[in-house]
Amino acid sequence: MLSEKLKECGVVGAGGAGFPTYVKAKSTVEFMLANGAECEPLLHKDFELMCHYPKEIVSGMALMMEAIHAKQGKFGIKEKNHEAIEAIRPEAEAKGIELATLGDFYPSGDEYELVYSATGRLIPAGGIPLQVGCVVNNVETLYNVHFAAQGVPVTRKMVSVSGAVRKPKSFWVPVGTPFRDLIALAGGATTAEYGVFVSGLMMGTLTFDEDDVVTKTTGGLILLPKEHYLVERKVRPQQARNRIGKSACDQCSYCTEFCPRYLLGYEVMPHKVMRTLGFTTSGAEHWSQWGELCCACGLCTLYACPEDLFPKEACDDAKATLRAAGMKFTQTRPIQVHPMKESRRVPVAMLLRRLKVEDYEVETPFEDIDHAPAIVRIKLSQHVGKPATAVVKAGAVVERNTLIARVAEADLGVNIHASIAGRVSAVTDKYIEIQSK
Ligand code: SF4
Ligand code: SF4
Repeated sequence: MLSEKLKECGVVGAGGAGFPTYVKAKSTVEFMLANGAECEPLLHKDFELMCHYPKEIVSGMALMMEAIHAKQGKFGIKEKNHEAIEAIRPEAEAKGIELATLGDFYPSGDEYELVYSATGRLIPAGGIPLQVGCVVNNVETLYNVHFAAQGVPVTRKMVSVSGAVRKPKSFWVPVGTPFRDLIALAGGATTAEYGVFVSGLMMGTLTFDEDDVVTKTTGGLILLPKEHYLVERKVRPQQARNRIGKSACDQCSYCTEFCPRYLLGYEVMPHKVMRTLGFTTSGAEHWSQWGELCCACGLCTLYACPEDLFPKEACDDAKATLRAAGMKFTQTRPIQVHPMKESRRVPVAMLLRRLKVEDYEVETPFEDIDHAPAIVRIKLSQHVGKPATAVVKAGAVVERNTLIARVAEADLGVNIHASIAGRVSAVTDKYIEIQSK
């Protein structure tokens, strides 16, 4: 069965939180949707993947369609990506899969957005695509499905490296490769001091640790100078964010009016979450149900707010506080798409300007590099679900694709395999380290 092979071979969503794909493969639904939207600014690895591996991606999609008995397959792809469309179209048409072309807006790759634009269906508040008869998979996940069906495990990750680097590009690297290798492969940084955004400026994280490593969900790295507007905003501590939010939020509600989830009809109102900052002296433990259905796309903080405040982070904090209090909010009224939704969409070009990164928006051409890192550190917890348990000990000799960590049959999670040949040099409760031969 496909689902068993996907668990065995370690396939998880390559474009987000990394939900184990075998679970989706067990369902029975009407629509199978491929997500090739890729709307994080400056990351273009999915575009490169679609241009260079259309056969494998569409084959993975057809395998998923067969497994879930889908009646229709739709391939979400941006209209502007002509080269990718030309590569995918003949493969898709041969398998009866329709292209669902999308505008160049942020966040058109959000699952709720994609399901709505491809099928006209609205996922229940806080729900998943399955509830409206859809399975959504990122294009790299589908590439991995194609190989897993032949028993080949996931040990490589496609990444883009862009921003303040000499040669922005996209390439494969073994899972567990340190970020410093990726930066070197992209020609090195063009500035002495920089921050590294992992998997995106909007929804990714910022790190200064180049020893951190690639996981099965890493979309790429974006380097920005340390003094860049986005780095300075990202390092602002929560206390400072709350203080400034409490004093400077004028309740204009732009954050809500531009919120993609609000515009789809969900009860998300970041301006009301911001209002709660004024309810305590410190702004701490402010809780509000109006952040619960937020998908953390970042648009309110990084695009909408004219005061440069932090409504997305206020929603994050409010969600955490509600969770800690054991409370859960569910939508109270029917979901109804806002009449202004279409005219309030945010073009990626405008977002790039607002983020002050237009100068870094260049192609990241694919290079077929066979990178052999001296060392890889493969994390036991890389995605949604249970961490895997190591099945090798320090000193063991492994080949590429050797099983090194396993998840119990009944647990949500997938197996992990060696991404290079070598000797296991360390096994901890967090990772397995392999030194190359
Ligand atoms: S957009 Fe900014 S200033 Fe306006 S309500 Fe939202 S957080 Fe407050
Ligand atoms: S991050 Fe802001 S804009 Fe995005 S879903 Fe949450 S509240 Fe809405």
